[in-house]
Amino acid sequence: MELDKMDENDWKYHGEGNKSLVVSHVQLSRVLRLLKYPAEDSENPPQTVEQAFRQIQNIVDFSSNVMSSLLGEKFIHSGEVVKLPLEFVRQLSIKVQHQRPAWRCEKVMDIYSGCALCLPNLTAPALHQPAHTPPLCIEIKPKCGFLPSSKHVSKDIKTKVCRFCMHQHYKVASGKWKRRSLYCPLDLFSGNRQRMHFAIRHLIEEPQNNLKIFKGGQCIYSSKEGSDDAMDLTSLLHHLRPYFQHGNKRINSHVTSKAVLNDFIQVLVNALLSGGGGDGGVVTDRQGGGRSFCEASVFNKERIRHGSQGLPSDSVLFRTLQTQMLDTLDIEGLYPLFRRVEQHLQDFPKERTRLQMDGPYNEAFLEKLQKCPTEDDGSVEYAVAKVHQYRVAMTAKDCSIMVTLVPRSEEEEDDEGLSSQRWLRDFLSSRPPAFSYSVSILDLDPKPFDSIPRQLRLDQKIVSCYLRTGGALP
Ligand code: ATP
Ligand code: MG
Ligand code: ZN
Ligand code: MG
Repeated sequence: MELDKMDENDWKYHGEGNKSLVVSHVQLSRVLRLLKYPAEDSENPPQTVEQAFRQIQNIVDFSSNVMSSLLGEKFIHSGEVVKLPLEFVRQLSIKVQHQRPAWRCEKVMDIYSGCALCLPNLTAPALHQPAHTPPLCIEIKPKCGFLPSSKHVSKDIKTKVCRFCMHQHYKVASGKWKRRSLYCPLDLFSGNRQRMHFAIRHLIEEPQNNLKIFKGGQCIYSSKEGSDDAMDLTSLLHHLRPYFQHGNKRINSHVTSKAVLNDFIQVLVNALLSGGGGDGGVVTDRQGGGRSFCEASVFNKERIRHGSQGLPSDSVLFRTLQTQMLDTLDIEGLYPLFRRVEQHLQDFPKERTRLQMDGPYNEAFLEKLQKCPTEDDGSVEYAVAKVHQYRVAMTAKDCSIMVTLVPRSEEEEDDEGLSSQRWLRDFLSSRPPAFSYSVSILDLDPKPFDSIPRQLRLDQKIVSCYLRTGGALP
């Protein structure tokens, strides 16, 4: 990829979130992640080129120096900042515009700075050989997997019903989504296979922006509102069937749709519980015990046949949950500390740099949040450390987990090309086809210090909406 010879025809629309738009290269396993602005600022970029460059460099630093050490390096691809020719970016923005889902178009792509983040394309890994069956890639945005136990929580309901489940009622009430999702993050993070299976089935039923499935780098399943293509369960099953044909359930050479879906979820659960190192067969060192239940989850506790073992400590879910749990005070306990820092910065504006409120996200930043005193000594340092911890936890509550599955043909059994570190063989299925798989975490942007008051207001709105409707929506 030569940055001075960029051609928009080599790139295509790949997807987008709230803050960035992603395009993928048609041949290389590369994506470019570009910033987005609110449409009303489109004539007037809200930041200079230098600020845009700094913002993306901050994302890279935060991911590689802070999140990677908390979540585990093996899961992280931080990428690099690139400067693109402005003409290329403009052409690209015109080219992708008509493919963007309407509900995302309240923001526009940044065409002024020419800055972007270049990352490996996790949905189309380079080691895949085009002649073979294309890889599958499952993207899950799991959201917060625990109930707060902070003494600062003022509403009892928050210790019983998880944030995601309460937020679902609010989203339906405010018209963001038409239907409530029955996915509950506490089931996914439980480490109990039945509960995890149940959680993933509900993600598939109502993906919203928590589930996307890619085949050979193309999105084949996501929120129905996200696209006008036929992305229903039938078409998903049609795509998945060839990958799960060989099961021993092949009686009269027909595998039922239910069996295909079960096998698919099974493979996914295994990948999520695996270490990403060593052998995924025996899971040792389980943590937590999966004791926590959300009262809004429709999973029937009585159905649990095997005791909950909790999550293996080297799994992606365990590391994500641990990082989310750096939010020990809940927004209600954190907010007074935010105010303490804010007051201090008003009195001593130059302290903003020393306290690293907007970066740089380096080892010193990580140290600040890791060396936090357990008790509040009234200092600004304590408040800053808790604010930093909270922001890191917010990032971990908002990230996506990518599971890439590369089917292995029989001839490939001993292919050395697949034995590179991150790729584990075979363990995912007791019957063919076996998948080589890799697990990654993406979308690890730092959340701004100034967004904390908004978090408090949102929390209050969600809780009061839930209490008002009594969680009684259908
Ligand atoms: P959010 O609203 O969740 O915060 P965002 O605006 O921060 O999202 P990302 O989640 O980073 O943006 O990217 C948007 C989408 O682009 C992702 O959901 C994913 O499908 C795709 N994507 C991002 N990075 C990669 C990658 N390295 N490889 C493949 N696909 C990617
Ligand atoms: Mg995202
Ligand atoms: Zn829940
Ligand atoms: Mg994001």
